Parts: sequence; structure tokens; C-alpha cells
Amino acid sequence: MSALPSHARVVIIGGGAVGASALYHLAKAGWTDCVLLEKNELTAGSTWHAAGNVPTFSSSWSIMNMQRYSAALYRELGALVDYPMNYHVTGSIRLGHSKERLQEFKRVVGMGRYQGMDLDILSPDEMRGKYPFLETHDLTGALYDPYDGDIDPAQLTQALAKGARDMGAKIFRFCPATGARREGEEWVISTPQGEIRCEKVVNAAGYYAREVGKWFGRDVPMMVMSHQYMLFEEIPELAAWSKEAGHKLPLLRDVDSSYYLRQEKTGMNLGPYERNCKAHWTAPDDPMPDDFSFQLFPDDLDRLEWYLNDAVERVPILGTAGLSRMINGPIPYAPDGNPLLGPMPGVPNAYEACVFTFGICQAGGAGKVLAEWVTEGETEWDMWSCDPRRYTSFAADKDYCVAKGMEVYGHEYAMHFPKHAWPAGRNQKLSPIHDRIAALGAQFKPYNGWERASWYVQDGDDTSEAATQTWNREGPWRPRIEAECRAVTEAAGILDLPGFSRFRVKGEGATAWLSSLITGRVSKPGRIGLAYFSDDKGRIVTEMSVMMLAEDFFFLITAATAQWHDFEWLQKHLPENPVFTLEDVTENFSCQILSGPNSRAILADVCKADLTMPWLTHQPVEIAGRWCQLVRVSFAGELGWEIHTKVDDTAVIFDTVWAAGQKHGLKPFGMEALDSLRIEKGYRAWKGDLSTDYTILQGGLERFVDWTKPAFKGKAALEREKQQGVTKRFVLLTVEAGDCDAPYMSTLWHGGRVVGETTSGNWGYRTGRSIALGMLRADLAQAGTEIEVEIYGERFKATVEPDGPLFDPNNERLRA
Ligand SMILES: Cc1cc2nc3c(=O)[nH]c(=O)nc-3n(C[C@H](O)[C@H](O)[C@H](O)COP(=O)(O)OP(=O)(O)OC[C@H]3O[C@@H](n4cnc5c(N)ncnc54)[C@H](O)[C@@H]3O)c2cc1C
Repeated sequence: MSALPSHARVVIIGGGAVGASALYHLAKAGWTDCVLLEKNELTAGSTWHAAGNVPTFSSSWSIMNMQRYSAALYRELGALVDYPMNYHVTGSIRLGHSKERLQEFKRVVGMGRYQGMDLDILSPDEMRGKYPFLETHDLTGALYDPYDGDIDPAQLTQALAKGARDMGAKIFRFCPATGARREGEEWVISTPQGEIRCEKVVNAAGYYAREVGKWFGRDVPMMVMSHQYMLFEEIPELAAWSKEAGHKLPLLRDVDSSYYLRQEKTGMNLGPYERNCKAHWTAPDDPMPDDFSFQLFPDDLDRLEWYLNDAVERVPILGTAGLSRMINGPIPYAPDGNPLLGPMPGVPNAYEACVFTFGICQAGGAGKVLAEWVTEGETEWDMWSCDPRRYTSFAADKDYCVAKGMEVYGHEYAMHFPKHAWPAGRNQKLSPIHDRIAALGAQFKPYNGWERASWYVQDGDDTSEAATQTWNREGPWRPRIEAECRAVTEAAGILDLPGFSRFRVKGEGATAWLSSLITGRVSKPGRIGLAYFSDDKGRIVTEMSVMMLAEDFFFLITAATAQWHDFEWLQKHLPENPVFTLEDVTENFSCQILSGPNSRAILADVCKADLTMPWLTHQPVEIAGRWCQLVRVSFAGELGWEIHTKVDDTAVIFDTVWAAGQKHGLKPFGMEALDSLRIEKGYRAWKGDLSTDYTILQGGLERFVDWTKPAFKGKAALEREKQQGVTKRFVLLTVEAGDCDAPYMSTLWHGGRVVGETTSGNWGYRTGRSIALGMLRADLAQAGTEIEVEIYGERFKATVEPDGPLFDPNNERLRA
């Protein structure tokens, strides 16, 4: 083995499928001066014992992108790197037991079609045609994924490693990283074979990622589950069928029963995600060993018995097979089950590509994404669903990670219904008035750990989890949300909004710096305005409200979930030695939204503010003798103010406003009502309507671009795009929908062709319309154009509405 070099451009810690793919893709991008360190042999972590299933199915657009890319890469990888490997593309059948499951499948078929994949729905007869051993009497249908299959995970890793080596990258096996320190602009990684300096470093240590993260001062939000599969001996009937057919059975996933069943040579492999699951290495009497290379946990057949019986009823020939072997290995989980892939939060030039629960089918795509982050600082696809910064400090809590990991594992194939709130790991961050709004009937959902009211129940409402198991608009919440919207429109509503992210920027040069980053003008002192941040390609990075207190002194306010992402964007773009300061002061403040025509009268009763000050202004006032900042804006599109308070004063101020509001018809409202109200105004939501998948101009945000500014980030790209014209454009659609409103990434059709996608959809209670926001082929984005929206497999007529709000198009209510 050659000696460890003293320097490399990038060091990757961990040689599983993901680390090897990261190295391969870096080398492919021309970054060949990269080194991968593996403490044992390649694949020694989770990779060696993985079942190797390679599905493309996902109801997440970005994860589907990664998996689709992986499957396409694996088809050609052997030939590309001259390393033949076992990759069987068998197709898969995903069984549906309910109407809702079939709706989910139909939605994914639509998304897959849009990504160029030919997924399909099968009837019970068609299922039996592809899988003759299947009992189908209780099934509603199935999803057929012709690209699904299985790959040998060790061969995959070796093939990626060979490809990387052939391009000049280096791999050091039996060479653990033992620490990391920052020296000047470099990272110094220590190993028993000496130190290696590098520009950038990647934590690809799989289930050891938390230990590696510690060297960087990073608490990786993760935990480890035990995951098993059972291998069965030859089944003569299957062997005979397979011989005659000349191929294997498609992989079967009974997602409602929660297992997969795959043909393994002439036997079978059964892999459940069991409800009665088991976490490992979470308690002092079960410490994580320093080295678990190529080891397994003891078999635990008891946990799998129910699943085995269920599978035998589904595929009776399985009942004739003898069990030959069990595999019980460690599998890491982040709190939402998605990997951590992207910049390591708060740590310069460090990245994460770890905590993969589906790291074999995602490795290909993950390597591409990681290499883009490292070499370009941005990715082709918006990857927020996997971005490590989607979690903030609360998620480092081990109990939280264990509770969420167990919940996700036990519901690995669950449907994620829009009105359902997963119960584990709740109450991480509570508003100062949490108890008060709970007493008013709030049903909560977490946002970056903060519990916020979704809607308010009344006595007798069904608040069971079972009631939320629907894609339909209708449900116990519907009359309540409608009444909340009516209160905001006709009288006044108050919404407790803890956790708005808030950054304070103060000092000489602050305004000029901000102006260089945003596409539009910086608002004047006393004013507040929306600002859009573009990357160098003109794509939408984020949106913040800029509240200017004085020249060179402002607050930037942004979504709760955007806290770490947006703060890092600002930090990364600070000038050298700034005179001004940038501080995250999120934890110090809270906010109430007071909206509706009576909000002025309510405030007049509790403070001496100048309530004639126009829309988009702000002023400090006292309510109940406590400071607060009244900001005249309304995401609900009504006359209204945000009341920004110090956390300690929030309760007193809320009580005062609430008491004064009673005679003015003040009611509490929740996030569901707010979402309905905002969509009628065409207001975009971050990481749905606003993402790096779209440019500022595609997003219809020209009015927030000041072309006269000499320079701002993204200007050159946007000028080019303006000259060439956009290919697709943001539209507001009214939809003649059925029972469901259009979810994110529903396909838009025109003349039998796919012409765009929705980015969000909801029912507008003020307008009595189903509304969708989306991106449409530019030549069709004219008011009045009739198109169709595919919602859970059915197409519904939709009309492109004029550019601007659907409700109160001239913003008269906002300005009242
Ligand atoms: C039973 C089972 C079945 C599974 N089946 C599937 C499946 O069918 N499909 C699928 O997609 N996924 C499956 N998975 C999940 C899959 O195995 C993992 O997601 C995947 O292997 C993760 O790959 P990785 O490269 O991120 O991590 P790992 O394979 O764990 O690699 C991390 C590497 O880092 C090394 N390392 C750690 N610390 C250091 C250090 N300090 N210095 C140097 N090296 C270090 C480790 O030795 C290890 O080799 C399964 C998992 C289990 C347990």
C-alpha cells in the first residue's frame, strides 16, 4: 500500500457504498486529488450485509431523483468501470390494501412519469400475471416499478471504488480517522499512519457518524436501529417457475403489512420493518463498541413472527421453505428517516453524507449530490429534504432521536397524510403561551421543533389519528378551519407563531452588504419588505423579511425551519472583516399574528400606536407596559399586524390583546387556516413554492428585482435569462378539483402533454375554490388558459388566473 499523502483536496471518512460513491463522483468531476479513509475493509459498516434492494419509489421529489439516478447509474456502472457485478432489474410490485394507498401510488406514478419513469398501476389480475404465487383477494391494486431490483452492495462499492481509483483518487483501507482539527484554512485529519491535511472533509461514517461528528463540534442527529432479514432455502415450485420463465419474480412489498419479500436465487428473502422494533446503542448497558466491523446483532426471530405469518398468507409457497439464515445489522436513522447529505451545519468546508437508511439505492445519487456540494457549493436538484441544516440544535437530543427513529422505522412504509401529526418526540420547543392556546383547543404540529397550532377543535370533534388517515379535504377540521378563515376575514384572528427565525444586523456597511445579496431594494428605515436571495445561477435560495430599524440596522425574519440554512447563507457571504455584526437572536423573541378588519380596533384598545401608519411599516409600542414591535403585514392578506415580543413578555401581551379582542370577535386561528388564506393571495411558501429548482424569474418574482442596482448576487444569470425568456413560469391556478386539493408535485397537462407541476395546493375558504400554485410552460402561463391538473391519478380542469392575488387583487384590505 502506498504511503498516506500529507495533503489532499478532500478527505472522505468512511468507505461504505456512500463514501465510495462520493469519491467516484468527485473524481468524475475532475477532483481526483481526493482520499478516502476506511477504518477496516471497504463495506465493513452497514453496506456488507445490506439486502441490496434498489427501488425508485418515493413520495419525495428529491429522494426520487436520487434513486432514479442511482438505478440508471447502476445499469451502466459495471461497463463504465469494467467491474462486472450482480445487478438484477426484476421490477417490483407494491401492494395496496386501501383506497388511500392506491391514491398514494397514483400520485407517485405521476411524479415518476414526470421524471421519465414508466411506473404503472396493476389490477389484482395483472399482479397475478407477474407474480403467480400471490394471494390478491384483499388488495385494491398495486404499483409496478419496472426499474426496481437488487444489487450486490459489496460489488457496487468495489465498482465505485475501482472507478474512483482509475481516475486517480486514493483509498486507504485499515486506516481509521482518529480526529480532526482546524489549522488556518485547512483541516488536519489524524490517522495511525500519520496526518493528512485537506481543504474539505466529508463525514461518510454511516452509523459511526455521531462519533466522527464530535471532532467537528457537531452533534449529528441520529440513532441506530437493528434491522433484520430472513433468508429461506430453495422452494422447488419457485425454482421450477423461475427456470421456465427465465427470470426472477418481481420484488414484492406489502407496505401496509410492512415488509418486502424478494426472490433470492431459488429461495426467498423476507425483510420486515416491524412495529415492535429495537434500537441499539442507546443505553449505558448497551454501549456502542469502538469497532463493529463486519459484525451482526444476535438473531431476534420473535419480533418477526407476525410478519412471517402474514407473508406466508400472502405467498403460500413461502410456508414450505426452511429458514436458512438471518441477518440482523445496524442501520442508522435521522429523526425523519432521510439521510444527512450536504454542508455540515456551522462547520466550514465540512460535509455530511451519512445516516442513510436506504444507502444502497441512494448511494449513486448521493455521491452526485455530495460532489456538487463540495465542488460547486450547490446542487442541481433542490435537496432540502436531506440537508443536514433542516435540523437545529434541539435535534441533537438523544431521546428525541431515539423516539423519532423508532417511530419512522416502525412506519417505514407509512403514508404521510397532510393533516396527520406524528406523535413521537413532540413538545421539543414550546411557545411562552403554549398552555393558553392548548386550552383554547389547539391541535399542534411541530415546525423546527416548535409546536404551533394547526387548527382549533371544539367539543366532540374527532381528534384521533385514525381520522387523519385521508388525502381528502373533508374531515373534522374542515368546518373549524373554515370558521377560522371567516373570523380573520370578517372580524379578527390571532395566531401564535413561536420560532420565527430572526437575525440582527447592525453597523456600518450593513445596508450595502445586504443590497449586494438580495435581488431587490433594501427597505427604508421604518419599513419592512420582502427580500429574495438568489444564487449565481439566478435560483431562489431563500426569502426573508427585512425590517429596517435605522440606517445600517435591521432584523431579517425568516421561516422557523430555515434558521440554520439562512443564517449560514448570510455568514458565508459576509465581507472580510465586516464592521457590522450579524447575530442569530431567534431565541429572544416570539410573535403573534393579529389579522382581520377589527385588528385595528383591538390594538387601539391596548396601545398608543399610530395605527394609521401604512402597510409595510413598523413601530415600537407598549402593550401592558411591555415593549413590542408592531409590524403592519399580513400573510393572511387582511388588515393586520405582527406583534413581535420579547419571549418573557409574550404571555402578558397575548392576554391583554386576547381580552381586548373579545368584544371585537377575536378568535384564535392556526397554520391550516393561514395556509388557506395565503394561497388565495398567491403568497409562496419556502421549500415548496420557493426552492432552488426554480429561478427568481421563473418564480414570477420580477417585481422584487431591481435591475438598476449595479450588482447583486445572481444578477448576470438573471439578466441572461431575462433576455432569453423563461421556459416555465409561476402561475396561480383555480382547479375544478374533486375531494382532494392538489398536493406538491402534481402534474400539469395540456393537449395530452405534461407541461408543468404544482408546488402547493389548498382550498381557499374565502374564494370557495381549490387553488394550486405551480410552474407552467411559459407559453401557456397566460390568464385564462385551460389546463388539467393530475391529482392522485385523476385529471381535473384548471384555469390559469391573472398574475397577482386571487383574493383582493388590489390589496385593498391589506392597505385599509
Ligand atoms: C439488514 C439490513 C438490510 C438493508 N437492506 C438495504 C437495502 O435493501 N437497500 C438499501 O438501500 N439499503 C439497505 N440497508 C441500509 C444500508 O445498508 C445502508 O443505508 C448503507 O449501507 C449505508 O452506507 P454508508 O456508506 O452510508 O455507511 P456504511 O456502510 O456503514 O459505511 C460507513 C463506513 O465508515 C467507516 N468508518 C466509520 N468510522 C470511521 C473512521 N473513524 N475512519 C474511517 N472509516 C470509518 C466504517 O467502517 C464503514 O465502513 C440495509 C441495512 C440493514 C442493516
